[in-house]
Amino acid sequence: MSGGTAPLLPGATIGIVGGGQLGRMLALDARRVGYGVAVLDPSPLAPGAQVADVHVTAPFDDPEAIRALATRADVVTFAVERISVEGARAAEALRPVRPSSVTLAACQHRLREKAFLYEHGVPAPPWREAGSPAALEAAVRLLGMPCIVKIPFFGYDGRGQARVSSPSDLNDAAALGFERGPLVVERHIPFVMELAVVAARGLNGERRTYPVVRTVHDEGILAEVSAPAALPDRVAERVRSLAESIATALDLVGVLAVEMFLLERGEILVNELAPRPHNSGHYTINACPTSQFQQHLRAICGLPLGSTDLLRPAAMVNLLGTLRGPARLAGVEEALADPAVSLHLYGKAEAWPRRTLGYITALGATPEDALERARRATASLRWEPVSESVRP
Ligand code: ATP
Ligand code: MG
Repeated sequence: MSGGTAPLLPGATIGIVGGGQLGRMLALDARRVGYGVAVLDPSPLAPGAQVADVHVTAPFDDPEAIRALATRADVVTFAVERISVEGARAAEALRPVRPSSVTLAACQHRLREKAFLYEHGVPAPPWREAGSPAALEAAVRLLGMPCIVKIPFFGYDGRGQARVSSPSDLNDAAALGFERGPLVVERHIPFVMELAVVAARGLNGERRTYPVVRTVHDEGILAEVSAPAALPDRVAERVRSLAESIATALDLVGVLAVEMFLLERGEILVNELAPRPHNSGHYTINACPTSQFQQHLRAICGLPLGSTDLLRPAAMVNLLGTLRGPARLAGVEEALADPAVSLHLYGKAEAWPRRTLGYITALGATPEDALERARRATASLRWEPVSESVRP
């Protein structure tokens, strides 16, 4: 079970591990409803710390720091998965941790995640683990090329991955290193579309699921989302019920993003689980009565879940950095000339090429129209360097 069941009402404090953009958006929503916020993040400039009441400045995986966060909060949740399970257990000894350390453990390690999916009969790409260069070569031979090789944990935005399309790529893949444990070798799936869905599960087991969205990645980084995905109703329903059954099997409290591949014949393979708000669900801030962040808070506070209806077709385009160093966004007036467009920036102090710095959402008559509007707005934006002399 996930702790006591008395609801945490506004006035209580939410402890958030992770002060990146997800921690920030969760904190902003918590504050909007009148909750206090304590954030744990190693960076003094963390985007989430800028909007928190309390900032515990320490590494995520320091059990002492997590305990310190727990003592300042009424419930602890995660905006990152890169924390030690021991740390989460340490917090659990003091306060309700939602989702629990058990849910976190199942999702944060690719091999445990694959085992979990397999045990629950959830289809996923064929994979093998490889603890040495020889095992890697054997796994690639068995699965057939091309393969994608992934580090076992803490990869994100496609980092810690290598594609093996010919035997000459094996060395680069082995260079990912075996010191963290076996690498995960997956067959490369020739999907027709990537999909994602965010499911929410409350403390009492209540479930609500957002629409299935189409995601487009560029070199492993999420680039675009359109909602809803153009799918036959029966496929969309199957995806949503799959996500709900995964949430239940995980004994999830909070929101869960499920990333999937759609194959030619309508078959679905699950790529990844994230038991937290997710970049593919940012559109819900503008397009749904209850955003994924508000939903996560309701779930972890033991409150009834809100509506996940899509009020209008929507799209999101991520804003990635192009320069290194402090950067300022230019072209905002042009981007916002379309009243259907919203700009969201994370407040990151430093930019670098391809770092996620914010996103544009747009509503439209259709998902295509929304995406077109979001792309047009994004095209008028550019990053400019902030000269040292004008830095605060
Ligand atoms: P995230 O930022 O979502 O945490 P990640 O670094 O954990 O990303 P994955 O989701 O595993 O990485 O992979 C990133 C992207 O790479 C996928 O969305 C997909 O586009 C591509 N990809 C990963 N695995 C496969 C596969 N087996 N077959 C085809 N494409 C894949
Ligand atoms: Mg992913």
